[in-house]
Amino acid sequence: MTAVRKLDHRFVEVVPPELVSGILYVSLEYGTMIHLCCCGCGNEVVTPLSPNDWKLTFDGQTVSIHPSVGSWSLPCRSHYVITRGRVNWADDWTEEQVAKGRARDQAIKASAKQLEEVRLEPVQMLPEDRKSWRTRIGRLFRL
Ligand SMILES: [Zn+2]
Repeated sequence: MTAVRKLDHRFVEVVPPELVSGILYVSLEYGTMIHLCCCGCGNEVVTPLSPNDWKLTFDGQTVSIHPSVGSWSLPCRSHYVITRGRVNWADDWTEEQVAKGRARDQAIKASAKQLEEVRLEPVQMLPEDRKSWRTRIGRLFRL
């Protein structure tokens, strides 16, 4: 088990069956990223790309992903931040912190979903509304 300190990136369409340690595979097609855990345990870590999940920054040479990668469900419980291709190890989170982080994520996702539902709702103006609007505008301008 060798810990990885640098993460190279590969833009791929589909993820290859055999992943190489130290490489972050990015599929824009499927909106996801995958890499082998940087601690060297060999587990695959999937970080989906979405406004509510992870964001990828590509500066033309290296990649950064945000927020940090916390593999709380893996035995290694690795937690690191990938900035400009470098793996910066972060503190192990307590169960309480993990729970808080998850709750926050869920809250963000729930509010995003709500917003989407609101946006999807068709805006319909009933004829009466239209009339009342006209009356109101008429009053406003004393027509
Ligand atoms: Zn690991």
